[in-house]
Amino acid sequence: ATFGTLSDRLTETFRNLRTKGKLTPADVDGTVREIRRALLDADVALVVVKEFTGKVRERALGDEVNKALNPAQQVVQIVNEELVAILGGQQRRLQFAKTAPTVIMLAGLQGSGKTTFAGKLAKQLEKEGHTPLLVAADLQRPNAVNQLQVVAQQAGAAVYAPEPGNGVGDPVRVARDGVETARRQQHDVVIIDTAGRLGVDAELMKQASNIRTAVDPDEVLFVIDAMSGQDAVNTAKAFQEGVDFTGVVLSKLDGDSKGGAALSVTSITGRPIIYASTGEGLDDLEAFHPDRMASRILDLGDILTLIEQAQTAFDEAEAMKMAEKLATEQFTLEDFLDQLQQMKKMGSMKKMLGMLPGMGQMKQQLDNFDDKEIDRTEAIIRSMTVAERRNPKVLNGSRRLRIARGSGMTVTDVNQLVQRFDQAAKMMKTVARGGVPNIPGMGPM
Ligand code: GDP
Repeated sequence: ATFGTLSDRLTETFRNLRTKGKLTPADVDGTVREIRRALLDADVALVVVKEFTGKVRERALGDEVNKALNPAQQVVQIVNEELVAILGGQQRRLQFAKTAPTVIMLAGLQGSGKTTFAGKLAKQLEKEGHTPLLVAADLQRPNAVNQLQVVAQQAGAAVYAPEPGNGVGDPVRVARDGVETARRQQHDVVIIDTAGRLGVDAELMKQASNIRTAVDPDEVLFVIDAMSGQDAVNTAKAFQEGVDFTGVVLSKLDGDSKGGAALSVTSITGRPIIYASTGEGLDDLEAFHPDRMASRILDLGDILTLIEQAQTAFDEAEAMKMAEKLATEQFTLEDFLDQLQQMKKMGSMKKMLGMLPGMGQMKQQLDNFDDKEIDRTEAIIRSMTVAERRNPKVLNGSRRLRIARGSGMTVTDVNQLVQRFDQAAKMMKTVARGGVPNIPGMGPM
């Protein structure tokens, strides 16, 4: 799939990072170097890679990571944010004209997926209640007009095409007549398909530029094949200089592309990606969301594994102390209380995760992670004497009743707490043996 290798590489990089508690500058450099290589191998443009890794490095060496509860996790978050940024930040929707018809012109190389996209967009607009007219101004490629008529029919949209032998050879006129027709027939959107070439050439640019001048479109969408690798940068730049465009359509994002074009085009041109085309079918069109795409690249399924690990190792120093206590069998309810408070600090993680899509099971577990429950536990432990905290074995029935009254809880609550403390003690044993424990109150992970 698109981004497959890049995702794997980034996840692997973070996997190496997660075992660290504090991050040294050398750790950060190593990580940034791996990210750089992964991006370059994915055909992301060099300038974009440089800028991206520069920002990640600067932030990763800064305070937000130094002071983070889990530095590795914080670095992942930074990479995520910077990915969203190079993908354009906020979602950009198609813009409609104040007075109809909205004119949308398509530009791009031959085979980039323009005609297919024209059909997809028409279909989607129809669904939204618009009445698009497709204009066949690609008079270059044999059969292009016919192809547009076919997709228009599939999309259930109207087409304006020059009669064979009439107006052929003048795409500017066809485009202008198309817009005129839309106005007359009260179509509220016009989608103009233009000619592409297999490579960028001056004549193609001139023609596209003339069409643009003639119809003054509200949007010029540059369609680019996601598989086009390093060429993507030059093609995008050439179209920007030759015609300029207001937005980008990434096509063939369903294919096996490395993803370089997707990650480069917005940074290189300053133009947002508006749509992602993800198949040959007319329904295979998605509005482009930079945040979702970043999540996809970072393969959040695996990032979640990281977070899981972060939870078990939330504070290495603290865990070491616990392990020591355990070794000398000094792990007490007071330590347990400390540990719970550590977990409470992680509550902010829940909020962060809540913003990420596709969290599934993990999210549910986090929802079960309840700050209030920790507060209640705290109240119970605080109602115990020091002797009881240090040796819960002395907690007989009458002591439990006293503690329940003192903390405003029930005896059952107290019993459950003691039980959970036993579990926690077992967990500490597991940690000491180097295993992955279950965290009480959060269910098995
Ligand atoms: P145009 O020359 O720019 O108009 O490109 P076309 O629309 O004719 O598309 C070229 C080829 O790419 C056709 O075979 C399309 O079926 C295919 N194609 C277009 N968009 C997509 C897409 O999103 N995914 C896949 N897999 N194929 C696509």
